[in-house]
Amino acid sequence: MRHVPFVDLQAQYRLLKQPMDAAVRAVLDSCHFILGPELTEFERAFAEYLGVTHAVGVGSGTDAIELALRACGIGPGDEVITAVNTYFATSEAISAAGATPRWVDADEHTYTLDVARLEAAICSRTRAIVPVHLYGQPVDMDSVMAIAREHDLKVVEDCAQSHGARWRGRLTGSFGDAACFSFFPSKNLGACGDGGAVVTNDAAIAESVRILRSHGMRERNLHVVEGRCSRLDNLQAAILGVKLRYLNGWNERRRSIAAEYTALLDDVLGVVTPYCAESATHVYHLYVVQLPERDRIREILQRKGIETGTHYPIPLHEQPAYASLGYRCDDFPVASRIARRILSLPIFPELTSEQIGYVVDSFREALAAQLRTEAEPLVG
Ligand SMILES: *Cc1c(COP(=O)(O)O)cnc(C)c1O
Repeated sequence: MRHVPFVDLQAQYRLLKQPMDAAVRAVLDSCHFILGPELTEFERAFAEYLGVTHAVGVGSGTDAIELALRACGIGPGDEVITAVNTYFATSEAISAAGATPRWVDADEHTYTLDVARLEAAICSRTRAIVPVHLYGQPVDMDSVMAIAREHDLKVVEDCAQSHGARWRGRLTGSFGDAACFSFFPSKNLGACGDGGAVVTNDAAIAESVRILRSHGMRERNLHVVEGRCSRLDNLQAAILGVKLRYLNGWNERRRSIAAEYTALLDDVLGVVTPYCAESATHVYHLYVVQLPERDRIREILQRKGIETGTHYPIPLHEQPAYASLGYRCDDFPVASRIARRILSLPIFPELTSEQIGYVVDSFREALAAQLRTEAEPLVG
């Protein structure tokens, strides 16, 4: 039986083994593991890539969001608005900063937060918006920034899935007061472990994140606040420095894989392929379709050796961790409905056209088999 993994990190390592091994060896030889020259160099290169003035490497994408919010002065008593269908970490980081998450329903076409519902979620305690460029699809940042300015709110972009994505030609991560990236291994730019970064054009926010990531230290042994121990380590920075050079090429490949999938699936009855606004350059961290009977189709694909995912099967307001907030299941109808219908197909730059063909053929067969089951008369 053939096997198509959801993500194939080994394929990427095979291509980059030599430069990655050399980068790791150089750090091992130097024994400079924390806040070393490779980190400084990666921070410089990543800021340059995004066209921003500062990048600060931290321990994870989750920590990046928490520290960026704290650096923006957000904490206990404040509310922060984000998407209800994002990954759990976005909300978790808002709470870790001491604030309370307030959710907005998803747009059923783009899957990003519905900007038309944004203003209704703003109250007197609202201090910030965390737009999430979910699946690699950029949020309409013109609308978000206009609403934020009007209500005097900070904007901290969650770019954990959108390295290289653009809104009206401008890179995600360059719009907000700050933006947060994750370098979790499977992201569009991934390390060999956990990692993240906060980027900003605001020198005070950058300085504050630098202090917070390292025990609140402004200089050695002088702790001006209680911070965290959350630095992007030098080994990861060295690896990311190698991989950053490939990011644009990888994103191009993801976009062409997505185009191939869409061309092959567009005419399949009942299947909704990803929508992308004209102003948006989607980088397809995930390729997500909607279909009925998702779980059964997923099971059939699994039996054919095809790994798929659901991002995410339970929206935040239905998560047990948030039961105490008192939301009802039908408070976010779009998110609740799409959570049952979305399916993420394998996508990574090294995926071959042959694999894409196998996935699409299997997917069509699975849908046809499902339709036949439904058409069978009930016996007895
Ligand atoms: C991955 C992810 C995060 C968290 O990043 P980590 O590096 O895993 O902490 C936050 N938000 C979104 C949307 C993500 O996909």
